[in-house]
Amino acid sequence: MPFTLRGGDVCQPTPPTPIPNPYWVAFSASAAKLINLKLGALGLPKDPDWLELLAGNQLNAGGLTFSSPISTAYSGHQFGSWAGQLGDGRAILLGDMNELELQLKGAGKTHYSRMGDGRAVLRSSIREFLCSEAMHALGIPTSRALSVVGSKQRVIRETVETAAVCSRIAPSFIRVGHFEHFASLQNTVRLKELADLLINKFYPECLNTKDPYLSLFKEISARNAKLVAQWQSVGFCHGVLNSDNISALGLTIDYGPFGFLDHFEIDHICNHSDHGGRYAYHRQPQIMHWNMACLASAMLPLLELERSPEESQALLRSALEEFPVIYAKEWQKIFRSKLGLQLAQDGDIELIEHLLQAMNDSKVDFTTFFRNLSNVRKDSKLTDIAQRDEFIDRDSIDQWFIDYIQRLQTEALSDEARKRIMNQVNPKYILRNHLAQTAIEEAQQDDFSEIERLQLILSKPFDEQVAFEAYAKPPPIDMQRIEVSCSS
Ligand code: AMP
Ligand code: MG
Repeated sequence: MPFTLRGGDVCQPTPPTPIPNPYWVAFSASAAKLINLKLGALGLPKDPDWLELLAGNQLNAGGLTFSSPISTAYSGHQFGSWAGQLGDGRAILLGDMNELELQLKGAGKTHYSRMGDGRAVLRSSIREFLCSEAMHALGIPTSRALSVVGSKQRVIRETVETAAVCSRIAPSFIRVGHFEHFASLQNTVRLKELADLLINKFYPECLNTKDPYLSLFKEISARNAKLVAQWQSVGFCHGVLNSDNISALGLTIDYGPFGFLDHFEIDHICNHSDHGGRYAYHRQPQIMHWNMACLASAMLPLLELERSPEESQALLRSALEEFPVIYAKEWQKIFRSKLGLQLAQDGDIELIEHLLQAMNDSKVDFTTFFRNLSNVRKDSKLTDIAQRDEFIDRDSIDQWFIDYIQRLQTEALSDEARKRIMNQVNPKYILRNHLAQTAIEEAQQDDFSEIERLQLILSKPFDEQVAFEAYAKPPPIDMQRIEVSCSS
């Protein structure tokens, strides 16, 4: 294994715990390609060796042996408070393939399971699987999902459910919590090794700077700032932005009670265990910034290797201040493009904010509104614009459309060209909660066809898919409020 955390203070050998009678639930051929997985003569869904391997029942398949699976320790802040040591309570790193790490989530207890059972339920495994692959297709950095394998083994949560193992892939699953782990142990030697590992493998450009550790901090922070801007642009709420769920590579990781906005509600809370709304949609940028402050504190001893504590703190503080600037720039860039604006002009931000306020006030569906916006033309009359009907305050939205059309007239692009570009930015299909829920309920009855269908649709989120128009629609009234909790 060329790249992994090593040492008993951060990882432990962890063989997966076998699970009875595993069966295929889902599989991503495109994720399999990433790791050059050999499908075998039967094709993967029929390959019993891979089924057993991805269930955690054996350690070899397709001529490969994963001889030293591990789980890792990390620490972190949960819901704003220091939680001490956490760790991979149910994730086991099998090893790596093609420079990517292959992890099983839900494959039994680990050294770090604490009170947990080390298992994941079918419901949350399907959600993680579908969402990872959907985010990838949206162009948003994320861990990938290779498979979900189910078992009829019972797992107790709020109700009794059945178990599943989701396998996931990333260049690395190192997170802010790993830095916090060594920092809390006051082990600067190990902290430095962790930072060096990341720099050498993923951030080599930092080596050419005056202060590689400060540069590393800035790079991780910038990636995560841009990541949140991308989330906001598709209405994605992560749900549990604890520092142990924040990737050191700026990937979306640890899908739990996430949700995509249906109607736009700026303070939407997708996780029903999040009573205070700490992780509400509009708070995500601020919370990610807060997590970067946790990272900065953890990395402080590295800067102090070269300079005084005061100087180190001042450097990190000013690096941290770059976060909102990078975020705002990225957010503006993306939202301009969602409106089809190529130039940056004064007044654009007010235009975007006016729209979002109106959408919030009238609870307008986020995805379909932006998708259909590309139908507005430079010579559209207000009466041509069907979308006005979705708003309660007609005067306000009419004024917005007047301003928008005027703004479009200052752009060189033709209506047709703008429409093409906007449709590459504003997805038609997202993983709405009710779609995932339907696929889950059918899978619980051993019908996996809806998962496959969703996978197919969501792998081309920007394409018109005539046969699947219904999947682009907002949820029917009885499926609008599906609640998702942390217990997964
Ligand atoms: P999460 O909010 O899913 O990121 O989980 C927070 C922490 O709890 C992580 O350290 C997880 O590994 C751990 N955890 C969550 N569920 C379980 C479980 N069923 N068994 C063991 N550990 C768990
Ligand atoms: Mg986690």
